Amino acid sequence: MLEKRNFETDAVRTQSERTDFREHSTPLYLTSSFVFDDAEQARALFADEVSGNIYTRFSNPNNTEFIEKLCLLEGTEDGIATASGMAAMYISMASLLKAGDHVLASRSVFGSTHQILNIIFPRFNISHSYADLGDPDSWEKQILPNTKMIFVETPSNPSLDLIDLEWLGKLAAKHKVILNVDNCFATPYLQNPSKWGADLVTHSATKFIDGQGRVIGGAVLGKKALIKEVRFFARHTGPAMSPFNAWLLSKSLETLAVRMEKHCANALDLAQWLENRSEVEYVKYPFLSSHPQYALAKKQMRLGGGVVTFEIKGGIEAGRKFLNSLKMLSLSANLGDTRSIATHPASTTHSKLIDTERLAVGITPGLIRVSVGLENIKDVIADIAQALKF
Ligand SMILES: *Cc1c(COP(=O)(O)O)cnc(C)c1O
Repeated sequence: MLEKRNFETDAVRTQSERTDFREHSTPLYLTSSFVFDDAEQARALFADEVSGNIYTRFSNPNNTEFIEKLCLLEGTEDGIATASGMAAMYISMASLLKAGDHVLASRSVFGSTHQILNIIFPRFNISHSYADLGDPDSWEKQILPNTKMIFVETPSNPSLDLIDLEWLGKLAAKHKVILNVDNCFATPYLQNPSKWGADLVTHSATKFIDGQGRVIGGAVLGKKALIKEVRFFARHTGPAMSPFNAWLLSKSLETLAVRMEKHCANALDLAQWLENRSEVEYVKYPFLSSHPQYALAKKQMRLGGGVVTFEIKGGIEAGRKFLNSLKMLSLSANLGDTRSIATHPASTTHSKLIDTERLAVGITPGLIRVSVGLENIKDVIADIAQALKF
């Protein structure tokens, strides 16, 4: 474990050892394997008696740098980088669950996480149930004798509801179940679930961690004993992150703090502006005082995040017209980019859910999700203003 400094310093100064070329910025290690000094060292490496790189499916200096830095920023003991966020979600569950186990998840998890729980895991006799973020009293009743893991996202996508991580950490500890938090929306800069008792913290690095819409990646972080199991599973099933992506993502982390400050300031400006518009039914943003969980957001998040959602008056048709009238904002399914992006979840990211499931996770027909980028917010607001007048 490296010594903990302040967030920005760890993000900038955590670097793999310099090579003989004395480079200032970490080079890219594009190599599939590494050479052994002699037969004895090869034997010791494979026997786990010494640490070192053998093969890039197991480890690589770029992946190690990325993950050591991310662990410092999240306050976790250990971690592993994966090829995508979904690889991280999948191995964080598949490596620790077995037939007969049960997962309790928040109803509003990411679409593909739903597909793992609903379609893929039942094939292996791993069951699940969903609990509502808005009804914390129902959670304890849903913990069964075979519940092995609680999986949550806070803030949720796209409805931006929260769950009290301190309360949930205690509930998980009381019942001895693994608490797994997908921290993709908040990033380690805004919220550290391990501080409140999360055993695993999972990420899609594709979003704000990259922050520039370039690469796919993910990470599973957490307690040493659990990551040991996750690492075994990953080593032999192969969801490794490419060294190129790890190299890029490690450099992305250097600017995470300044980027998140700006994303959040822009998002708050937009949310406050939207609140005063007659075309808008309601606005949801964790750091708006009108958010039902504003006090909780202030307690467990440093800032409100880079995503704002709002409901346009006029339902699904008004939502479509609004999107088609935008001139600058991108229509894309991604989020956490320098470029502001507008999405209509009911017809895209969450279209696979049935109507009642969508409403249960707060996705109303005219709901628009804006991932607020790093443009000047006046230009983002100007584009949204002209599109609201369709
Ligand atoms: C995007 C996303 C994922 C999946 O990540 P990929 O990198 O696209 O595989 C998982 N969880 C959340 C909350 C996400 O936004």
